[in-house]
Parts: sequence; structure tokens; C-alpha cells
Amino acid sequence: MIRFFFLRFLLPLLVLFLLRAVLRSLFAAFRAATPGRTSERTPPSVQAGGELKKDPVCGTYVSSAVSLTRTVNGSVLHFCSKECRDKYRVA
Ligand SMILES: [Zn+2]
Repeated sequence: MIRFFFLRFLLPLLVLFLLRAVLRSLFAAFRAATPGRTSERTPPSVQAGGELKKDPVCGTYVSSAVSLTRTVNGSVLHFCSKECRDKYRVA
């Protein structure tokens, strides 16, 4: 009985872990196959829309169409990435 419960909990965890490992290696292979286009989340064609807003964290100008926004004291702030938005929260 104890063994049954053990397997019920351990097996899904193991499957999840394996699935994650497989996905991660696939992603790594995909990245390796496309050099020069690493971490390019927003191509220039996408940034064409919207007006440019300054990221208060890193100082990068980012299009309001693709930026991450956060309202602070009634004014909307635009961030280039989730990292910058999180950084602003901490500061
Ligand atoms: Zn930024």
C-alpha cells in the first residue's frame, strides 16, 4: 500500500522531470542551429508599431506596442523586458 502511494507520487514527478530535460535539450539544439539570432525576441518589423517609450531601468527605448507596462502612481511605465520590470519592483 505504501509502495503504491510512493509510485503514484514519484512516477508523475519522474515523467515531468524527463519531459523537462527533453524539452530543454530540444530548445538548446534549436538555439545552436540558429546562430546570430539568439535572444532576439522582438524583430524590427514588430517594433514598427506604437510610439517609443524609455525603459526607466536600462534606458532602452522600446515600442509601446511590444513593451511590458506597469502603472506606478497613475503613470504608465514601459519596460523592454520582464527582467527590467522585476528589477524596477525591487528598487
Ligand atoms: Zn530594459
